[in-house]
Amino acid sequence: MRHDHWIGGKADAPASGEYLATIDPTTRASGDEIAAGTAADVERAVAAAAVAQPEWARRSAADRSAALHAVADVVESNADDLIELERACTGKIPAQLRMEVDMSAAYLRYYAGVLRAHHGRTIELGAGVHTYTRLEPYGVVAVITPWNLPLNQACRAAAPALAVGNAVVAKPSEFTSTSTLHLARLATDAGLPDGLFNVVTGTGPEAGTPLVSHPAVRRIAFTGSVVTGRLLAGIAAERLVPMTVELGGKSPIVVFADADLDRAVAAAVTTLAMNAGQVCSATTRLLVEASAHDDVVGRVVEAVARLQPGVDFGPMITEAQYAKVLDHFAAARDAGAVPATGGAAYDDGPGAAGLYVQPTVYANVDPQLRVAREEVFGPVLVTIPFTSEDDAVARANDTEYGLVGSVWSGDLARGLRVAEQIDAGQVAVNGGPLTIETPFGGFKGSGYGREKGLEALHEYALVKTISASLH
Ligand code: ADP
Repeated sequence: MRHDHWIGGKADAPASGEYLATIDPTTRASGDEIAAGTAADVERAVAAAAVAQPEWARRSAADRSAALHAVADVVESNADDLIELERACTGKIPAQLRMEVDMSAAYLRYYAGVLRAHHGRTIELGAGVHTYTRLEPYGVVAVITPWNLPLNQACRAAAPALAVGNAVVAKPSEFTSTSTLHLARLATDAGLPDGLFNVVTGTGPEAGTPLVSHPAVRRIAFTGSVVTGRLLAGIAAERLVPMTVELGGKSPIVVFADADLDRAVAAAVTTLAMNAGQVCSATTRLLVEASAHDDVVGRVVEAVARLQPGVDFGPMITEAQYAKVLDHFAAARDAGAVPATGGAAYDDGPGAAGLYVQPTVYANVDPQLRVAREEVFGPVLVTIPFTSEDDAVARANDTEYGLVGSVWSGDLARGLRVAEQIDAGQVAVNGGPLTIETPFGGFKGSGYGREKGLEALHEYALVKTISASLH
């Protein structure tokens, strides 16, 4: 099936007349085609957004809230269609798909709720003056998303942007555009004004660059690779347009010997299986106190070796990602690292037809190895022993990234002490929940800006001060 852009509340064919092919990564069979967007399409989408935005921004918070709740309603009532679209181009397992669609609706509901408590303030400067702040939208926000959690990422950025009165032009990944397109269609059906939420599909250079470069785009949200993030942040800086830059990670999971090891082991295995490791917040460096290292790693390896492709985890979502993970395996092998489990694609069985790679553990690795330093973005865990609390902190921070961290200890004070010293935007202690309510974003090379939580609302609003003399 062919999918056009969604611009101004309707399907809109690409000016180029061209379409891009996608595949089902479980089989490599060809799938849907999406419009090959170019600057001309971006122009129409941004124009539609710019027309729709002022009226939306003038609406009361209660009205905007009701409209976003209505979009959440249609996401929930059309969950099966969204799941099928997402499955067709990502090959994810059913539980993962369900969780992502539920989470997408939850983003819309959360921001539909909290927007009603998002106000400016009065600043008391004495008698005879009235000074206050207003939280004003930027106007048109560009949302550029990757292929790992397509619908989820779209809602994560679009919901707070829309909540505070912006219009959105989304450019999903060219590999996984269809669920975001369908979201836009559903949003229109649910009563969101035409032009408020537009989707232009296509490649990064052809559709994404013109979007972030467009003079009417006043705010950018980007999730993706470091290389692209740096490129787009350069364009944004030149234009003096603020940007949320959510990049990768090589996040640590730190396990002390006194931890609840069953739960810590389960957490390490889950991070590997979840979306087959294609999650920027995956905790892929397992740091274990030396006295417990072999025990913990032995248990992790045993559990990881039992994971079944297509049942417990999905494929790599793109051919390029599949090749990248295999390249990591080859480089690790060349460097003398022997996997405790995995370390290859599948030669036969259900994994062989698609882009599956074996869940892999490199135990007790040299921390300087490439596989221990670079983000693999696949089901690949490295383990490294540590000797003391200070050593654990130093190893946890021995990375150019700083997205998340996880600490496990029976001594909560120690857990918190270590968490406070990890340079990352989020740290879970003993599996503490990290939800829509909890702000998320990078330290160091993982980027800047915050998504989720109340912080995201602030990110998409400009603060204006008005001060009046009453004399
Ligand atoms: P990933 O490896 O996760 O696909 P990318 O950074 O390549 O990371 O892609 C993330 C998003 O950024 C996708 O929507 C992609 O099309 C877009 N993108 C990639 N290159 C560019 C570019 N040069 N300009 C604008 N957007 C881009």
